[in-house]
Order: sequence, then C-alpha cells, then structure tokens
Amino acid sequence: MRICTVCGKREMHGKKVSHSNIKTPRRWRVNVQKVNALQLQNGEVVSGYVCSRCIRTAHKVASK
Ligand SMILES: [Zn+2]
Repeated sequence: MRICTVCGKREMHGKKVSHSNIKTPRRWRVNVQKVNALQLQNGEVVSGYVCSRCIRTAHKVASK
C-alpha cells in the first residue's frame, strides 16, 4: 500500500459516477516517490517512500 513516510498520507476511496449515475468503486492513490535522503523542516533526514507534496515542501525549505 502506498503510504507517505513523512505525513502518513494514504489511499482515499470513493466512487466513480457515470453520466447514467452508475457508481463504480475507485481509489485515489498517493503519488509516493522513493527518496534516498530528504531533509525535513525540523532538520531530520528521511529516506524511503515520500509523497510528492512532502518532497516539494522539503525542497522549498532546503532552498532558503
Ligand atoms: Zn507526505
């Protein structure tokens, strides 16, 4: 299962609704990428599977 090691974000579930109102289960998966070393806001360095949002935030903090 795709889980972000930083924020714990995981899959969301819901239904696809067609024009004829037929509901089919679907899921929204987390966009997790494998990272070797990522420095967080608190100075902690993590590696593993991290979501794209957390990677972006980490890069933003690192560039300051
Ligand atoms: Zn995350």
